[in-house]
Amino acid sequence: MPERTIYLDHAATTPLDKRVLDAMMPYLTTEYGNASSIYTLGRHAMQAIDHAREQVAEAIHARPTEIAFVGCGSESDNLAIKGMAFASQKKGKHIITSSIEHHAALHTCQYLERFGFTVTYLPVDEYGRVDPSEVERALTDQTTLVSIMYANNEVGTIEPIEEIGRICRARKIPFHVDAVQAGGALPIDVVALYADLLSLSAHKFYGPKGVGILYVRQGMRILPQLQGGSQERGRRAGTENVAGIVGAATALRLAQEELPEVTPRITALRDRLIEGILAIPGSRLTGHPTHRLPNNASFCFEGVEGESILLNLDLLGVAASTGSACTSGSVDPSHVLVAMGLPPEWSHGSLRLTLGKGNTEAEIETLISALPGIVEKLRNLGAQAL
Ligand code: PLP
Repeated sequence: MPERTIYLDHAATTPLDKRVLDAMMPYLTTEYGNASSIYTLGRHAMQAIDHAREQVAEAIHARPTEIAFVGCGSESDNLAIKGMAFASQKKGKHIITSSIEHHAALHTCQYLERFGFTVTYLPVDEYGRVDPSEVERALTDQTTLVSIMYANNEVGTIEPIEEIGRICRARKIPFHVDAVQAGGALPIDVVALYADLLSLSAHKFYGPKGVGILYVRQGMRILPQLQGGSQERGRRAGTENVAGIVGAATALRLAQEELPEVTPRITALRDRLIEGILAIPGSRLTGHPTHRLPNNASFCFEGVEGESILLNLDLLGVAASTGSACTSGSVDPSHVLVAMGLPPEWSHGSLRLTLGKGNTEAEIETLISALPGIVEKLRNLGAQAL
């Protein structure tokens, strides 16, 4: 067993930042009050949530009243999409999304089809980009929601969100942005992006698992998807996860503040990875060459199974992914690579390496030296099996 893991799967999840844990600790120990209770202990919990809401609002250029804390990124996507679709179904039942969304958005749209909603799944180009003019063309007088991700979780492509947002705003059609992968990697400004709804997940930016954030622009009405108490201004019933909320807000603030320092370092590591790995014969970069997340380097290798690469890397102590955590282990090629038009002999051999602030140049060099041998070995094994 290798001594130390070389962790290159930050798109799946990130380790908790020590400063975030420190901020959470009081609410996991002495400050255990229920935020709905009126005595001092309860009020402390409520004050902590209020402060967290202010921090999140400031980080993404929103108002505190526009922030709702939920249980994860998936719940945030579900609440945005179902909440808006059901709230506005008297106006129309048409939704526009893309074919490369995370399953949290894609399956939610498919679920709505069972209730009579029509969904347009926009295609993407070979780099995974949505064309804003296609969004414009797809709009009808029945459209009540457009939902497009800020950055793709598998190939790291950044979508033209601002342009799409401007189109939606001009037509007064609510626009939801799944910014789960962008939250720790790109500046998030809900005003500049023309977002009406925006989803984030704390465990993607060194915060705790099990905390999501939904931005709901003032004036937007969504139908709550959990019935119960009136927490989160009636948007999400359930006793608040005080420690998690404090952790999410601290993590988002730190991630956004530290972008100027972290981004150039991670981008340099990513570019070195891309350069080193593309030297392997029969390899190609997936996703956009420039409009891509600073921490995402994803590839396909012709005639190799991505899962076999992962197992071999694991033996060396390298944690990586074939794509999204949700498709790992499934035999079907990823819907993202299929939508980008990759042929099956390539799309089965996908490898996603996603960097974090703890990665070093030495780790990247270890991977660059190990991978060619692994790919060659697997191709030879494959040839022998024929
Ligand atoms: N949306 C995107 C783009 C994601 O990458 C993920 C998780 O990988 C989610 C939504 C779901 O977030 P969570 O794991 O917090 O439910």
